[in-house]
Amino acid sequence: MKQGPTAGQYLTSAIIAACLLSGTAWAGQADKSAGVPLSAENPTSTQFQSCVANLKTRALKSGVSEKVADDVLGQVSYLDRVIELDRRQPEFTTTFADYLNRRVNEDRIEKGRALLEKHRELLNRVTAETGVPAAYLLAFWGLETNFGTYFGKMSVPSSLATLACDPRRADYFSGELMSALQIIDEGAITPDQMEGSWAGAMGHVQFMPSVFLRYAVDADGDGKRDLWHSIPDAMMSAGNFLNHLGWDGDYRWGREVLLPKQFDYSEAGLKRAKPLTDWRKEGITDAFGNALPDADVKAALIVPAGHEGPAFLVYHNFHVIMGWNRSEYYAIAVGHLADRIAGGGGLQQPPPEDALHLSRQDIEALQNALNDQGYDAGTPDGILGPATRSAIRDYQRSRKLIADGYPDEILFESLKITLSEPDKG
Ligand code: CA
Repeated sequence: MKQGPTAGQYLTSAIIAACLLSGTAWAGQADKSAGVPLSAENPTSTQFQSCVANLKTRALKSGVSEKVADDVLGQVSYLDRVIELDRRQPEFTTTFADYLNRRVNEDRIEKGRALLEKHRELLNRVTAETGVPAAYLLAFWGLETNFGTYFGKMSVPSSLATLACDPRRADYFSGELMSALQIIDEGAITPDQMEGSWAGAMGHVQFMPSVFLRYAVDADGDGKRDLWHSIPDAMMSAGNFLNHLGWDGDYRWGREVLLPKQFDYSEAGLKRAKPLTDWRKEGITDAFGNALPDADVKAALIVPAGHEGPAFLVYHNFHVIMGWNRSEYYAIAVGHLADRIAGGGGLQQPPPEDALHLSRQDIEALQNALNDQGYDAGTPDGILGPATRSAIRDYQRSRKLIADGYPDEILFESLKITLSEPDKG
């Protein structure tokens, strides 16, 4: 979510971004732990050790060798920093322009193009076996670790043990820890080399251990699935995962489009997919004004920065990308970076860089105001989720504003809400 590769960035893309952008809670149900979740913020070492002892029992039951369970769980330590990162909440929302510009920039595009040449043979092989084109593989690689330049520096066993012994998502992370132990057990990596993000995402393409177990493959034939040191293994594994998520090699991810004037924005939204021919009939063209292809495919329209920003028609593969990381912003960034690496140009209508950075308070104030006026934004939680967007859209329509569901200055003025801090684009 944040600029630059920090140890918190990666899984995290998979989860936190999704959470903030879509308002969905991830793995947020009450967790029942196999270990004994600790209730205190800073557990005593006795509490942690007893939790780890329970995790060891579970590991042995799930078939991890006694040696690995002993060695690895005997060495794990409780990492305060991991809990700190897990509790962290950004003060302001990230605008689409900030998000995209940080991830898809000239530097990364050039590097991607150079790597496309360098690894052409390998990438062609991955495409032949998995159906995923090279440019997308590079886009994931670029977004996840800036092409392998930053994997995260946390000890994965310790990070996962810490999170498995924390009550918030103990169940999920206990499972990931078990997977991590199995990965060590199969000899893919030594425990001290198993580094990753604070939440356990690992290697070139930042697989969580459970994803690694299911989808990682040995592509260089050395007998090990090594996503830290082997680019062939990493690329083939990424392709394999995407293939299992349902990648459709016949189509692209989507494309930037041009909307006709007076367009009804209430047609936008991932859930409102319809045949491409219907969008054509409504006057939507590609970003340059050319007719859209006459393909028998369903597409949904998304306008991530509101009516002043770019519009995209997205296809099935967009949902596949969101299977990797449940964030619309992430999926657009992957698609756009892939296009750029494949030789395409920039967006015809880049997102406005002076968009509002909203605080949670601003969003809560907005939700309260909408609810007060009879537009159901759900329980105010400071998160711009689907219910809030839909309430914004209804309100905008009633005031004859452009009903794009996007919280811009006009909306806040109309609702007489003073923003908590002047915006700094
Ligand atoms: Ca290998």
